[in-house]
Amino acid sequence: MSKTQEPRRLRPATQLVHAGTMRSGFGEMSEALFLTQGFAYDTAAAAEARFKGEDDGFIYSRYSNPTTRMFEERMMALEGAGDARATASGMAAVWAALQCSVKAGDHVVAALALFGSCRYILETVLGRAGVACTLVNGRDLEAWRAAVRPETKLFFMESPTNPTLEVIDIAAVAEIAHAAGAKLVVDNVFATPLQQKPLQLGADVVVYSATKHIDGQGRCLGGVILSSKEWIDENLHDFFRHTGPSLSPFNAWVLLKGLETLPLRVACQTANAARLADHLAQSPKVSRILYPGRADHPDAAVIARQMTGGSTLLAFEVKGGKAAAFRFCDALQVVKITNNLGDAKSLITHPATTTHKNLAPEARAELGISDGLLRFSAGIEDIEDLMEDVDAALAAA
Ligand SMILES: *Cc1c(COP(=O)(O)O)cnc(C)c1O
Repeated sequence: MSKTQEPRRLRPATQLVHAGTMRSGFGEMSEALFLTQGFAYDTAAAAEARFKGEDDGFIYSRYSNPTTRMFEERMMALEGAGDARATASGMAAVWAALQCSVKAGDHVVAALALFGSCRYILETVLGRAGVACTLVNGRDLEAWRAAVRPETKLFFMESPTNPTLEVIDIAAVAEIAHAAGAKLVVDNVFATPLQQKPLQLGADVVVYSATKHIDGQGRCLGGVILSSKEWIDENLHDFFRHTGPSLSPFNAWVLLKGLETLPLRVACQTANAARLADHLAQSPKVSRILYPGRADHPDAAVIARQMTGGSTLLAFEVKGGKAAAFRFCDALQVVKITNNLGDAKSLITHPATTTHKNLAPEARAELGISDGLLRFSAGIEDIEDLMEDVDAALAAA
């Protein structure tokens, strides 16, 4: 295998086509898919040297694999991270990143507006392991400070949040975490690695569900954890090898190819989302619009400091509650009803009855998830077709 690039000097769109590429002796142009569990050693002594770490070749695909490593290195170049581990899903990434660095007696502070499965990991999985968790309003910096205890080891948040697209000040929260001697882990799925760089803003670890924009074409699950080499060596390296949340080389190959077109898709999806947000904001049938790219977003000042794009997602509330929201969804023909996001196809979700149905009504109200709220993930279709589809749905709502 030979490496051909010096990825850090290149700009993101170039990195996403070239960074991390390793070519075999055949000189293949498209990155090779190494669908193999293991690797043969020339001699018993070569196997011994590799297990001792004296030779950095591959050992077993639960640890690492050439195709998976190419995906990790391309993500590292984009994010400016020292090392990475690719996981079987976004949740495997969140779980491993949180679990690997805490022990019984430790304490975690997290923002309340969380994906339901993240909340299960924090409260149930870590709770059973003897790790306490305090949930705070992520926008309230005083609340983060007040939640700190002597045993606080981790801060965790996602931003923009799902589904109401709240934006939390990553640099300010990182400062509070570091003053407390804790590390900040950020789930950066909604922003994509192109529109927000948590590590540059002071976060210590960033996690992705690669299932979303990185695949971007609705094919496979995947995730990735990125941090400094020191953090990965100290916390994740052994944990990952022995617990096995590893990404399949086949999925790594699909995601690697997905990265090549990520900037094109995200630019088109963001432009479509912005047009739709402005259009919906003018409708008398819409009572609330939440889009990070609009000047009327409640967190506009933070967004101007930390994001370089308005997001591919928007949320809005149709007047008339659940019944009107359902009529809106059912009248859509191009836009599909599903719970995924970040796809080339435009998607709509009614959070109160799907992704957030397990929350008590009061908890939903606290997060601003009303019965009329819809989350829209803009795809790459022709904007005129999307506008016509949305107009027909507004008429039906
Ligand atoms: C989808 C999602 C996840 C989980 O990712 P999977 O790949 O479905 O396991 C975690 N965090 C956020 C913000 C997500 O949108």
